[in-house]
Amino acid sequence: MNQMEPPSIRVSEIFGPTIQGEGVLIGLPTVFVRTGGCDYRCSWCDSLHAVDNRFRSDWQAMTVEQIWDQVRALSGGEPLTVSLSGGNPAIQPLGELIEFGHREGYRFALETQGSVARDWFSTLDTLVLSPKPPSSQMSTDWARFEACLAAAQGRPLTVLKLAVFDDEDYAYAKDAAARYPHLPIYLQPGNHTPPSPDTDDVIIDITGVMRRMDWLVNKVTHDRWFEARVLPQLHVLLWGNTRGV
Ligand code: SF4
Repeated sequence: MNQMEPPSIRVSEIFGPTIQGEGVLIGLPTVFVRTGGCDYRCSWCDSLHAVDNRFRSDWQAMTVEQIWDQVRALSGGEPLTVSLSGGNPAIQPLGELIEFGHREGYRFALETQGSVARDWFSTLDTLVLSPKPPSSQMSTDWARFEACLAAAQGRPLTVLKLAVFDDEDYAYAKDAAARYPHLPIYLQPGNHTPPSPDTDDVIIDITGVMRRMDWLVNKVTHDRWFEARVLPQLHVLLWGNTRGV
């Protein structure tokens, strides 16, 4: 890339306003900027259309101004929270976008698995670190994770959010909480029937997801793990596997 060209950001989709469906900002009206590309391949990824290189041709290289025009139009120019998600949004150059939006009073939340640290993490309003448990078939590099925390410099509201599918994942979540006792932790039942990037008719097993939610609540209360917050994925309850809501 020519040094003088503005950095381009790989975008899978921009949509909203809708509500944030999970974690610390649940229920908050939000515009989503979903970037394309991820350094992970979780077995149960629910955003493969923004991860798998097969869909790369659907991702657009956009400038900050192009992204911002869409965010502003979707929000009617009224500042709100912009969720930077993916894929792994940390692999994109998002610092300038955050700076740009802050000037107009918008707020930024970023969700990442914590594998790539960026100095602009410290400029976020909310940083959601979502390390992936064993059922994802990924392994966590805690040194890289620590680097993400260090990059944030304690400035954004920083929380842990973990999907839990089974006992092994639950043990992993407890270990993560023990490593970072100062971080609020949010647990959510995993969706074992995630959307497919190829078809839009994957039937979601809501009954199974809610059974897992019930199991998770029982685990947490039985263990007297009173710092953990257990939440369903609200968008999954409302819209199942539908994209762009
Ligand atoms: S880190 Fe997130 S976006 Fe990347 S593969 Fe895993 S679940 Fe999908």
